[in-house]
Amino acid sequence: MYFKIIMCIIPATPLVLWGLVKRHYVKFDRFKAIDKYLYECKFFSVEKSGCRTHLYRSVSCSHKCAVYDVLYIADMMRVAKYSLNMCMCILTNEAILESLIFLHNNGVKVRVIMDRGMAFHEKRKAMRLKCKGILVKVQKSWDEIMHHKFCYFDIEEPGRCRLFFGSLNLTLQGVTSNWEYLIFTNNLYMINEHKKIFESLWRETELF
Ligand SMILES: [Zn+2]
Repeated sequence: MYFKIIMCIIPATPLVLWGLVKRHYVKFDRFKAIDKYLYECKFFSVEKSGCRTHLYRSVSCSHKCAVYDVLYIADMMRVAKYSLNMCMCILTNEAILESLIFLHNNGVKVRVIMDRGMAFHEKRKAMRLKCKGILVKVQKSWDEIMHHKFCYFDIEEPGRCRLFFGSLNLTLQGVTSNWEYLIFTNNLYMINEHKKIFESLWRETELF
């Protein structure tokens, strides 16, 4: 009886050992892969509603201030050297608009896709970008909603490219009165996936 059990176990031993080693290796390899990339999360909450006044004045009261977060995003965008592509359902924040204009004036190829309804609702802001020569597009149909919120830049140079995406619209409301999040990364797979969807939308949308 015991002999039969042992005879069954012995041939299976290398397989079990290989399974254990593989499991540990894959686990290790996965951590290594994550470690190669930059990942950063920013969370926004209703607690920042007190910082609306700071946002109007563009002065940060602390690192927990909404202005601090907005300027962080705006400054990060200003690093772009070649191109910046943004899909933003609602885009009204002054610091972000200023960064887009700054980049365009410095020869960076800036392309923006906004939601048609929101772009017309905040026509003054979208027109400001358009008047500066920035290409702004919206979906052709009023029945559809362009709900994406992401931005990537410098895909031309893997060492420089960055992406941020999440639930946040770049608006005063978004950074001070909602629970929202953004993830920043230089993960090339993620950036390429966003590039695919951006280019496809760019073909399907029309100029504002
Ligand atoms: Zn503040």
